[in-house]
Amino acid sequence: MLSRRMFVGAASALALTVSLTGGAVAQDKLDVVASFSILGDMVHQIGGDAVSVTTLVGPNGDAHVYEPTPADAKALSRADVLVVNGLDFEGWLPRLVEASEFSGTKVTASKGVDPLTWAEPEEGHDHDHDEHDHDHADHDHDHEEHAEDGHHHHGDYDPHAWQSLGNGVIYANNIAQALAAADPAHADSYEQRAEAYVGQLEVLNAKLKKEFGALPEGHRKVVTSHDAFQYFGKAYGVEFIAPEGISTEAEPSAADIAAIIDQIRDEQIAAVFVENISDNRVIEQITRETGAKVGGELYSDALSGPDGPAPTYVDMFDYNSKQLLGALSGS
Ligand code: ZN
Repeated sequence: MLSRRMFVGAASALALTVSLTGGAVAQDKLDVVASFSILGDMVHQIGGDAVSVTTLVGPNGDAHVYEPTPADAKALSRADVLVVNGLDFEGWLPRLVEASEFSGTKVTASKGVDPLTWAEPEEGHDHDHDEHDHDHADHDHDHEEHAEDGHHHHGDYDPHAWQSLGNGVIYANNIAQALAAADPAHADSYEQRAEAYVGQLEVLNAKLKKEFGALPEGHRKVVTSHDAFQYFGKAYGVEFIAPEGISTEAEPSAADIAAIIDQIRDEQIAAVFVENISDNRVIEQITRETGAKVGGELYSDALSGPDGPAPTYVDMFDYNSKQLLGALSGS
C-alpha cells in the first residue's frame, strides 16, 4: 500500500490519506507483519519509528502449532511486508496468506543460512555404550517408523536457525533489505539501524564464543525439552539433547524418554532446562527419575513479554547464555 502511495501526486496522496479510516492508524508507516515474536523484535529494531509491526505468534507462544485468528488475516490483508522464518517453521502460514489475500512482499528471514538437517539419532553413539546396544537399536527403529508413517510433520531442515547470532546477522540483513525495497524513502534509516544492530549482534557473538570456548571439554551437555538448540550448539560448542524432536507437535515416545534417562545416568549431563514455550511434563518426569537438577528456563522459539527476562532477541541470547554458562561451569 505504501509503495503505491508514493507514486501518486501530493494532492491525491492527501485525498487518499483522508479517505483512510479517520487517521487513527499510522498511515505513514510501513505496515509489517512478522510471523513470530523474534522476527517482530528484529523488524522493530531495524524499522524503528518508520514501521508498524504486527506479530502473529506473540511472546511465549508456540509457532509450531499455532492456529491463526481472523484478526491475523485482517492484519495480513493490509500489510506491505510479511516477514517469515521459513525452513518450514510456520506450517500454518500458507493457508493464512491465501485466505487473507495478502498482496505485499513476503520475506524469508532465514534465506542464505546454512541449514542443519533435523537431528538424526547420532551415529557412533552405540559404540560408546556397549551394554545398551540392544536398547538403542530398538530406539533407532522407532524413529524410522515415525518418519515413515508421517508422524513428524516438518520439513527436511531444522527451522531454529535464529539460535545462532551468526544467523541472526543474516536475518537482520534480509529484513533490512526488504524494508528498504518496500519503503525506499526510509532506506538510509533502515540501513543505518541495521548496521548498528548487526554490530551489536556481532559483539555479543564474539563474547559468547569466547565464554563458551573457555568451558572445560566433556562438560558441555544439557537436556532441553524440544530440539530447538542445534544451531546454538554448533555455534558455541554445547551439546543439546532433547526427548522431543524439532517440532513440539509430536510427543516423545516412552522409548525416547527412556533413552534420555539412560543417557543422563551414563554421561556427564550438566543440567536439564525447561523452555518457555513447551509443555514441561516430560522434563519434570526426567528430573524425578534421574535426580538431575533443573538449570532454568530457556527461551527457544519465542521471546518473553516486556517484563520478562527476554523481551528482545539480544536479551534472549544474553539470558539463555548466562543460564547455560552457569550450569555448565558448575556455579
Ligand atoms: Zn521449536
